[in-house]
Amino acid sequence: MGKYKGQSRLVLKPKSTQEVSQIMKHCWERRIGVVPQGGNTGLVEGGGVPVKDEVVLNLGSMNKVRSFDPVSGALVADAGCVLEVLSQHIAPHGYIMPIDLGAKGSCHIGGNVATNAGGLRLLRYGSLHGTVLGLEVVLPDGTIIDQLSTLRKDNTGYDLKQLFIGAEGTLGIITGVSILTPPMPQSTNNLVLALNSFENVLPIFKKTRARLSEILSAFEYFDRNAYELVVKHKLGKPLAEDEIADAPAFVLVETSGGNKEHDEAKLQEFLEEVMSDESLVKTGVLAQATEQFQQLWALRESIPEAVSKEGKAYKYDISVPVSTFESVVAKTRERLQEKGLYQTPGGVREVVGYGHIGDGNLHLNVVAEKYSDEIEAALEPFVYELVESHRGSISAEHGIGLMKAHALHYSKSKESIALMKKIKNVFDERGIMNPGKVLE
Ligand SMILES: Cc1cc2nc3c(=O)[nH]c(=O)nc-3n(C[C@H](O)[C@H](O)[C@H](O)COP(=O)(O)OP(=O)(O)OC[C@H]3O[C@@H](n4cnc5c(N)ncnc54)[C@H](O)[C@@H]3O)c2cc1C
Repeated sequence: MGKYKGQSRLVLKPKSTQEVSQIMKHCWERRIGVVPQGGNTGLVEGGGVPVKDEVVLNLGSMNKVRSFDPVSGALVADAGCVLEVLSQHIAPHGYIMPIDLGAKGSCHIGGNVATNAGGLRLLRYGSLHGTVLGLEVVLPDGTIIDQLSTLRKDNTGYDLKQLFIGAEGTLGIITGVSILTPPMPQSTNNLVLALNSFENVLPIFKKTRARLSEILSAFEYFDRNAYELVVKHKLGKPLAEDEIADAPAFVLVETSGGNKEHDEAKLQEFLEEVMSDESLVKTGVLAQATEQFQQLWALRESIPEAVSKEGKAYKYDISVPVSTFESVVAKTRERLQEKGLYQTPGGVREVVGYGHIGDGNLHLNVVAEKYSDEIEAALEPFVYELVESHRGSISAEHGIGLMKAHALHYSKSKESIALMKKIKNVFDERGIMNPGKVLE
């Protein structure tokens, strides 16, 4: 939305942890605010924006791989390494990064950890809270905390690294990351199913988990409106129109395993089973070649780009029970209709829903002709209250940043927020680390 404009007059690009430490010491003594910056791909408004005149500390020059163990898969890298570069570094050894997202060509591993990014592989490999083995962090006063362990098991006291994962740079600067990378799957495949109704998503998800079990690596959902936007903006190859007919919902299933014949047979069997039940699916397309695999993924991965091409987007990245995905989208649309803002001149063009069913993460996007106070007032706090009514999270994977700090209470109790403030104070009593972000 571009709601916040950076006001910084100084960007520093340290080349080593020692330099980061010296900068922080200097800023600590003079009470100068510091905003850490990775690849600047964060999707939460204001997360990495210096709203006053804070110093921007960009990690881009700390971009070396420190070590890689081809037996355990433990990778230790500077925080400024670009995610895709790390993938390329370990690929020849037969490993992949446990995290993958659309911004992989620009985002840093340090930024990924700072935002606890989720992405497309979370269903298979879990969150960064599990895959990060250790961190090196520079505290606001310049102290270097070296916890760059490559151990998988270490029960020696409090697991401090967890506090920095998802802290959005409010507790310290992450300068090094140790992460466990999984072996590269030998065979990957996918299929897209066009469903008869949204109600079929959950039974199919249950069936998918039961039938594909250990080879299931992604289960993604997108509604008809999201699909239509991708097709409209020519970002994905449409499925056969007569076969999908009026399907209101789609799912993409991906498998990754170690035995091509075995995995393909399993997927084929699964497809035949769901296709034989006409009440469940209208049609299904199984990728037959690499090109088609990418085409099917494009239908899901291109949605954010299609949304941007369609208009100005209000983006909500929420966790709610999967069974409520469709009703959350429908209620938001109804709300805009009631306010006379849906498909009216200058109003909202479309409301779309898509996301990671496997993780209970819905991306609710409201696409408008232009941003307006009226639309914002219709959406907020309405969406947050809706999420709260389902005991959900107002930010599933993008974080809180500046824009949602005031809304934290919809997902965290008064007591939890008070404790978070105490923790912030332990690390940063002078309030210089990414001020105003996450906590008001
Ligand atoms: C096309 C696209 C697709 C995306 N898909 C996903 C997705 O599927 N899942 C998902 O979770 N996110 C997704 N994102 C959001 C974004 O890519 C992630 O949040 C990413 O982890 C941010 O990394 P970055 O290096 O760009 O961080 P930045 O944007 O530079 O910073 C993000 C926050 O982290 C802090 N920070 C950055 N580096 C450090 C550091 N070294 N130490 C301490 N704090 C730091 C910043 O101050 C800021 O608060 C997507 C973004 C785009 C553009």
